[in-house]
Amino acid sequence: MRIKLHSPILESSNNSLRDFLRAKGFKSTKEREILLNELETRGEHFNAENLYSGYAAGDCCEVFNLLSQDWVHTPLGDIANKQGRVAGENVAGGKATFSGVVGSAAFKVFELEVAFTGLGTQVARQYGFDVDSQIIEAESKVGYMPGSKRMLIKLIFDRRSGRLLGAQMAGKEGVARRINALAVTLHQKMTIDEIARLDFAYAPPFSAPFDPILIAAEQAGKKLQK
Ligand SMILES: Cc1cc2nc3c(=O)[nH]c(=O)nc-3n(C[C@H](O)[C@H](O)[C@H](O)COP(=O)(O)OP(=O)(O)OC[C@H]3O[C@@H](n4cnc5c(N)ncnc54)[C@H](O)[C@@H]3O)c2cc1C
Repeated sequence: MRIKLHSPILESSNNSLRDFLRAKGFKSTKEREILLNELETRGEHFNAENLYSGYAAGDCCEVFNLLSQDWVHTPLGDIANKQGRVAGENVAGGKATFSGVVGSAAFKVFELEVAFTGLGTQVARQYGFDVDSQIIEAESKVGYMPGSKRMLIKLIFDRRSGRLLGAQMAGKEGVARRINALAVTLHQKMTIDEIARLDFAYAPPFSAPFDPILIAAEQAGKKLQK
């Protein structure tokens, strides 16, 4: 977990503080530099040992992104709650850890569900992936079922490894629950080919025999073969 300090006290030179932060697991250069700049600007004193006298959780922290393998500010309620639980357990003498996130979120604008998980195209490129993507349109359930709605799915994947890097979806039905399935595949580092062969439940009220995720992965797989 990462800590942003607002009224620190400095007792060591910046070089030794930088080394201390690195040794204590502050991996992100950006975060170390923000901390040091803040100290310099304020001209206040900082006792390095005090840094670990407490725990930080929630929007004030960076969180480890399992895909980019970098510390990223990801201010979301579920992450804040999970970090809070870890901090609470450790305050009570436990040894809980927070392993990181893939970055999943969903929201609803009137009837439209929008959701994403993982990295977007631009961010994935910044982290050096050989990025490609596939967008498809599909029905949320078998077309003859009442209430079937069109949805858009974008899969973002790495051409070198064939791994899924992220997914974005929009539609009026079944979007938020489907993004969670893809979040699991990101945690498991699954390839597009593996996702295309997943055994999802099928019945007409819930999905077509080929779920939109499977169709998207199938089409992405064709792109990967080119
Ligand atoms: C409109 C909106 C919608 C959102 N919807 C979602 C969503 O659907 N899903 C999702 O995952 N995330 C959502 N978020 C983000 C989510 O709310 C935050 O990530 C989460 O609340 C962060 O929790 P936190 O405990 O770190 O901070 P907060 O919930 O902001 O809690 C901080 C608390 O500290 C108090 N405080 C501040 N300064 C002081 C002080 N000096 N002394 C004492 N108390 C102080 C504040 O009053 C506040 O109560 C939404 C955020 C907003 C603004």
